Amino acid sequence: MRILVIASHPDDETLGCGAQIALHRDAGDDVRVAVVADGVSGYKWSREQSIVKARQRRKDEFMAAMEILGVSDIVYLGLVEPLFLKQQAVKSFVRELLAFDPHAVYTHMPTDRDDDHKMVAQSVLIETRFWARPFASLEAVYGFPIPPVNDTSRLTVVRGFHVETMERRKIAAWNCYVSEQERIGDRVHHPRTGPNLRSQAHVWGSWIGQPYGEAFEPLAARVS
Ligand SMILES: [Zn+2]
Repeated sequence: MRILVIASHPDDETLGCGAQIALHRDAGDDVRVAVVADGVSGYKWSREQSIVKARQRRKDEFMAAMEILGVSDIVYLGLVEPLFLKQQAVKSFVRELLAFDPHAVYTHMPTDRDDDHKMVAQSVLIETRFWARPFASLEAVYGFPIPPVNDTSRLTVVRGFHVETMERRKIAAWNCYVSEQERIGDRVHHPRTGPNLRSQAHVWGSWIGQPYGEAFEPLAARVS
């Protein structure tokens, strides 16, 4: 099986579907993870840290996270944010990625409150219209929520997993993003702290009677 993950920023793939990526790899599936933006353009940098260094640092963090999730098939476009002004570039990027002929695509939810997330989701939906292009293998497109999760009613697909996958894969991959941890600092109520990510995954797991879970919005499906 071929799985394609398309995320806006390096770290969205881990937050949104890090456990799925690990589970697919463990099952022997081919997983390609693509990230559109550099993930740093919108941030304020300290005087001693140049934007070039910051971009490289974020890319290194992404590569380290992918190693933990078992992914070597990586596509890093590194577009400068904001993405919402660059829909044509993102759409062509998505179109090229679909040559991978995936069985399933994971991306953002079109209702996400972040403009870049929303635009990537919309680009994927446009480029995966079943009637417009002949897809040999594509069966489903899923939207993943990035915490904080605002609209849980759309999340009707849940996949459960155990503590090892949570701790040694998803949380361990998330911990590679040290620049993000620094931004969160000691704000214990931030939605992306390790404890809050665990709590959220516990709740999703409980929906299907599993220790942990990741939840998705079904965006498109073909049953044949
Ligand atoms: Zn993001």
